[in-house]
Amino acid sequence: MTPEEFRRLGHELVDWIADYRERIDELPVMSPLGPGEVKARLPATPPEEGGSLDAIARDVEELIRPGITHWNHPRFFAYFPSNTSLAAVLADLVASGFGAQAMSWQTSPAAAELEEVVMDWLRQMLGLPATFTGVIHDTASVATLCALLEARERATRYSQEEGGLQESPVPLTIYASAEAHSSVEKAARLAGFGQDHVRAIPTDDAHALRLDLLAEAIQRDRDAGRRPAALVASIGTTATTAIDPLAGMAEIAGRQDLWLHVDAALAGCAMILPECRPLWRGIERADSLVVNPHKWLGVGFDLSAYFVRDVPHLLRVMSTSPSYLRTAEDPAVRNYRDWGIQLGRRFRALKLWFLLRDQGVRGLQARLRRDLANARWLQEEVDATPGWERLAPVPLQTVCLRHVPARLAQDEKAIDQHNLALAERINRGGRAYLTSALLKGRRMIRVSIGSELTERAHVEALWQLLRDTAAALP
Ligand code: PLP
Repeated sequence: MTPEEFRRLGHELVDWIADYRERIDELPVMSPLGPGEVKARLPATPPEEGGSLDAIARDVEELIRPGITHWNHPRFFAYFPSNTSLAAVLADLVASGFGAQAMSWQTSPAAAELEEVVMDWLRQMLGLPATFTGVIHDTASVATLCALLEARERATRYSQEEGGLQESPVPLTIYASAEAHSSVEKAARLAGFGQDHVRAIPTDDAHALRLDLLAEAIQRDRDAGRRPAALVASIGTTATTAIDPLAGMAEIAGRQDLWLHVDAALAGCAMILPECRPLWRGIERADSLVVNPHKWLGVGFDLSAYFVRDVPHLLRVMSTSPSYLRTAEDPAVRNYRDWGIQLGRRFRALKLWFLLRDQGVRGLQARLRRDLANARWLQEEVDATPGWERLAPVPLQTVCLRHVPARLAQDEKAIDQHNLALAERINRGGRAYLTSALLKGRRMIRVSIGSELTERAHVEALWQLLRDTAAALP
């Protein structure tokens, strides 16, 4: 493709994206396609010869778009908000246009220095002290893996530089709430701690980790000759956005010399609002934390912000320095290849830069405040409506609810089935998309508010849809 052909087709595709976003409200939120339907319409073998891309916009519209679940839809209430603001779409286009591989400062100084600047902007926006330094990863899963690798190496005094965990006679243990995201357990397994050494600490009525049971579990492990290595605090659990008692966990971590990692993947975005910061009181004592601007803020998947306090430790754990990667500038610059697992890196900082220049801190704050108010409105509606129950507090933008028809009262199994059917019927109907999940054995429906386009009217429409659909179920 020549630059001239790119210009023509690029304009066409940008128009297509603008049209798509303009009419997104009319589309079914969840893709209505069944398994295999997209595949059946694609050739089984690759094109032997290259040809014209002229038909590509039509193919995107006819073959691909129907198989997309629209995360930027105003009635997307599933999982968590994952907004890709149009400014971030443009940034991704520019990043791909450069095609820069940002592994070292020298391989694209602008990528390294913009990352340094925007991560420090983000630190300030989140109200984090200057003792934290940030680096961009793809996902919270990878950031949490980095955190547990750092924890392992601190606890073992850099065992990876010798025989590694294989030579250690003392098992290391990790602690997180039973409601922690699965990425914590996955990271613990991958970092070599082993499933048997991950403690899922039970939660209280608000679904937050119980400090008393945490302290007991640590003591039990010490008594048994194991070595506690790390705590992971969830600031905003996936199911209910429950907030673990971070200050108390920091106290224990400090006293017991444990690494403290904070998983604030979604809820961390709310910390751009000073009024939300009491939720993570104690954060300044964390060793590491992860926030996903690719969730609620709108930077577009994928951009996960990992902050640490001890940069030399991170570098010692992560860096390698083969001769072919060394450059003359190394002593004076940040080579982000040494700040994480991957060597090659995309130019992700551009997305955060575009977003912040487009919306400013105030614009983002106003949007998040709108979402918090919408969640409070729904919470009040649920609380005031007979036959509906709320299953968790609403510290942020997620409302966990269920419908309990009078005819099913007391029959927990039937209530579970009823709520599963309710969520499935709504999702298949295409007018809204929700997640149903189990919370301490009970089936609930999660309404996660925060799509960029979601206004109060959309939340009202959802609440009406929930009540109408529940009433119509057999
Ligand atoms: N942590 C929490 C609390 C989450 O809710 C999620 C995703 O939903 C993750 C971690 C994983 O995020 P990622 O997809 O960026 O790995």
